[in-house]
Amino acid sequence: MEQSRASHQNLIRPKWIKSLRTLVQAGFALFCLYAGYRFYLFYLWGTGQTSAYVPRPPSVEAFLPISALVGLKRLILSGNYDMIHPAGLTIFLAALCLGLLLRKGFCGWICPVGFVSNLAEKTGRKLKILWRPPIWLDLPLLSLKYLLLFLFLYLIAWKMTLEQIESFHTSPYNLAVDAKMLLFFLSPSGLAAGIMLFLAGISFVMRNFWCRYLCPYGAMLGLLALGSPFQVKRDSSTCIDCKKCEKTCPASISITTKDTVRTGECIGCTECVSVCPVEDCLTLSLPGRRKNSILLLPAAVIGTYFIFYIAALLTGHWYSEVPPEVMRKFYGIIAELPHP
Ligand code: SF4
Ligand code: SF4
Ligand code: SF4
Repeated sequence: MEQSRASHQNLIRPKWIKSLRTLVQAGFALFCLYAGYRFYLFYLWGTGQTSAYVPRPPSVEAFLPISALVGLKRLILSGNYDMIHPAGLTIFLAALCLGLLLRKGFCGWICPVGFVSNLAEKTGRKLKILWRPPIWLDLPLLSLKYLLLFLFLYLIAWKMTLEQIESFHTSPYNLAVDAKMLLFFLSPSGLAAGIMLFLAGISFVMRNFWCRYLCPYGAMLGLLALGSPFQVKRDSSTCIDCKKCEKTCPASISITTKDTVRTGECIGCTECVSVCPVEDCLTLSLPGRRKNSILLLPAAVIGTYFIFYIAALLTGHWYSEVPPEVMRKFYGIIAELPHP
């Protein structure tokens, strides 16, 4: 009886959820590295630096969120899907859907930047240089990503007219924006290199600095996640205040001060539920069902993501309609392309 209860408990909240998350994140990060390398080879062909043609991997469009936001507004206003960067828009729509339904599961399980940020944090912890900012500094810093998000929403979702969007959509800049993004990382300006070095360095000292304070994408997902049906709930009558949940939480949430974790900072990693020593004190809840297996959330995150990918493939919304030769033409004049 005791044994069957224990195995049931293991299924509901397996202790290896942290390792599983690392594995899934590493898988997505490795895939992104591979896609980035293939795109680099395509770029070399596109700029005439090699004659060996390598097909362009559409998944690199995941790194064009502003183009995707413009594409979403165009879709809403005109009904036309962005067929220049269709994979970018599909990934953006998948991320929005994940935010609405599955908290910030995109951040917790898929995003490679989040994974790298977690690695920097672990290294900082081992080196004993990780520093938790006091609340008077943490709170204003937390607002920065929302300010950036509202700036983008104001400039694109609010201010841009359909005419301006169409003009941007067909501009040479938009046709070569993926190569521009690659160039930004391959040969950054002095200022950009300085900012990237600062962000990389501070991530070892302040936990998830970019994700927690600056990423507008994460801010948008966090706002959507406020309405998510998945919630971590705490039974205050059985909580022994051991704080194990808070020590493990990658988002530094004060779980023990809440009965329900509603904050947009929660990335749905479910590690808090897994480490809680009291049975049923912390649970992953859904409306009408307080206790669910914590595997449900990652399974739904990864499943939903792949449903979008397969649907886009089957319906012709994954591969760009722009022929490689046309892209090559614009890659060739990339240095002369001004921002519209
Ligand atoms: S906050 Fe931004 S960078 Fe960080 S994991 Fe989420 S989407 Fe990725
Ligand atoms: S780990 Fe569980 S028992 Fe410990 S403080 Fe958190 S909710 Fe309470
Ligand atoms: S509250 Fe729990 S599920 Fe949410 S980020 Fe923290 S540890 Fe992960």
